[in-house]
Amino acid sequence: MAKSAFINGRWSDGKDDWFEKTDPATGETSWDGQASSPDQVTEAITAARKAQSDWARRPQHDRTTILEAYAEEISKRSDKITAAISRDMGKVAWDAKGEAGAMSAKVGISIKAQVERAGTAFSEAAFGSMHLTHRPHGVMAVFGPFNFPGHLPNGHIVPALLAGNACVLKPSELAPSVAHIMVDAFEAAGLPAGLLNVVQGGRETGAALLDGDIHGLLFTGSAQTGLFFHRHFAGRPEVILALEMGGNNPLIMWDPADIEAAADVAAQSAFLTTGQRCSCARRVILPTGKWGDEVVDAIVARAKQLRIGDYTEDDAFMGPLVSEQAAQNAVDFQMMLSKAGGKSLRRLKRMERGGGFVTAGVIDVTDATDVPDEELFGPLMQIIRVDDFDDAILRANDTKYGLSGGLVSDDDALWLRAHAEMKAGILNRNRPTAGASGAMPFGGPGHSGNFRPGAYYAADYCAWPQASQVADEATRLGAIGFPK
Ligand code: NAD
Repeated sequence: MAKSAFINGRWSDGKDDWFEKTDPATGETSWDGQASSPDQVTEAITAARKAQSDWARRPQHDRTTILEAYAEEISKRSDKITAAISRDMGKVAWDAKGEAGAMSAKVGISIKAQVERAGTAFSEAAFGSMHLTHRPHGVMAVFGPFNFPGHLPNGHIVPALLAGNACVLKPSELAPSVAHIMVDAFEAAGLPAGLLNVVQGGRETGAALLDGDIHGLLFTGSAQTGLFFHRHFAGRPEVILALEMGGNNPLIMWDPADIEAAADVAAQSAFLTTGQRCSCARRVILPTGKWGDEVVDAIVARAKQLRIGDYTEDDAFMGPLVSEQAAQNAVDFQMMLSKAGGKSLRRLKRMERGGGFVTAGVIDVTDATDVPDEELFGPLMQIIRVDDFDDAILRANDTKYGLSGGLVSDDDALWLRAHAEMKAGILNRNRPTAGASGAMPFGGPGHSGNFRPGAYYAADYCAWPQASQVADEATRLGAIGFPK
């Protein structure tokens, strides 16, 4: 049984209900322990508050040095991180390894972003000088999703600590293990006690954190949860909210010469990480006619042929979904689309090996009615056929979300149109919608977030600007109508 509360530099047992996570590939327990209780959450926030004021006063150089050491410690633990991610949520080895690599790379990117976007500036003025500095918020609650249980909490924590904040992390209850390795790396790097605290648990632990005396909430997860948090903090502008949510992402494909390459882009967009990336394409929009038919056939061929396996199988492209429940939800979602008039081209099925394993599915929903504008977090691609490019753009934008999107086309004029008209924060041409660069901002309009993009722009929500006009001494001021 794992200790589940890391408070002020010490691990202890949780005091609330016991919970466990099973490996969706093997059914074995990958983590178990007791959830942190509301009192433990309060202790974690108190510890963070105490530690934060000293941390914020330390020179930037000190914080940067400790974070650089953390990057090295994370690299040393790459294999452990890879294994923990794979066991908790099923990611195949190459994919989990990529996530571990992104965690150490995040540090250099965040240091650069902080200097560029939340650093200091000085300029001379007639009265003396003007200074721009940035100040930390205080204690940040960090909520992680299961699909990138290391990289995404890390993507909030690293810039938050750099800016002088302290954090209380509640990892996803579906992928709790990697947080223990992060703590280990931070301790080895010399991060003072109290600056990163961890409370394991589900919604109740999360609720206690929401109700605690925090200055910010940095969230990555579903739109449903993000909207709930947005309502929860309504009327409290003093709490910074950074909400990174999901999408119902469109990919338009329009007549590129290389059909096989086009099908690769579509299939990887939809099926990377078993469809469990927020930026995965859910809806692929193609023209009616022969070219579109051929691309759809090529996509279906890939859905049939891609290798599905667990993290011990080196040639697997797709692992299982995070849980049996997620696998059943995906099957149910597909059934709902079929009932609405969708025609299955390749069925998403639960596999004989059980657990979270499903096959990749493709369903044509062109003639379906009342298709919900919802994100199915799994490997199911919806195909939509249209007669012209205007309609393709209309269908692409017919969503309340706006996270990612793409165009597959050799035509520069169509790209110019798509670039100007498609509503997506991450918009790619002839590249998969998933697999964003950490050196760019990450987020999108609508129900995909609250305009606080993460990745390169995370520095912005981790500090607030302070603008000062400075004169070395007070001098008499004149103004029309003002007494001399
Ligand atoms: P989720 O919303 O179910 O959970 C995220 C976190 O919120 C977890 O720690 C969970 O315990 C907590 N939580 C959920 N409901 C809560 C409540 N009522 N009170 C307190 N805490 C609560 O998300 P998930 O299923 O773990 O992650 C997948 C989702 O995340 C997908 O929708 C995906 O699109 C999205 N996502 C977005 C991004 C992005 O950067 N925009 C990146 C990755 C994943």
